[in-house]
Amino acid sequence: MSQQIVIDSKDFAREGRVLEGSLDLTDFPRVADQLLAREGQLVYRLEGSVDAQRKPLLRLLVSGVLPLECQRCLERVDHELEVDSLLELINDEADLAEDDLEDDSRDFIVADKSLDVVALIEDEVILALPAVPQHEDCSLPEGGQGKAKVSPFSVLAALKKTP
Ligand SMILES: [Zn+2]
Repeated sequence: MSQQIVIDSKDFAREGRVLEGSLDLTDFPRVADQLLAREGQLVYRLEGSVDAQRKPLLRLLVSGVLPLECQRCLERVDHELEVDSLLELINDEADLAEDDLEDDSRDFIVADKSLDVVALIEDEVILALPAVPQHEDCSLPEGGQGKAKVSPFSVLAALKKTP
């Protein structure tokens, strides 16, 4: 059964609350679509705080193993997921100042009195998925099926030819 976890995001941050637990991969339908297997769990921890300017923050940590499909050999590759996101709660998108946008240390989400924590975790997990999952040391033999790998030397040679 999928879980529903709802918080008042600003209160959660200002009161410095902490929420932790684990969720089944099947609780994340949008992530589950990309998985080769759906057994397993993600462990999460959500911490509320305020920064020096009293801006409400949520820090989200998520870890677990996602069984993805290697885009080279099409076999299963277990991706070690490690999410550590700092999210600042803003009133609405228009609140974002120029200098906030240049701040890479945090992301911004619109504050919600009934924030769906499972959906938030799912959003962050999707952002953390590798664009092209691959085995670090993929055993696909050279010339085998799958996408041909471009040799870094041929790329270099091509670069040298261009003036
Ligand atoms: Zn592979």
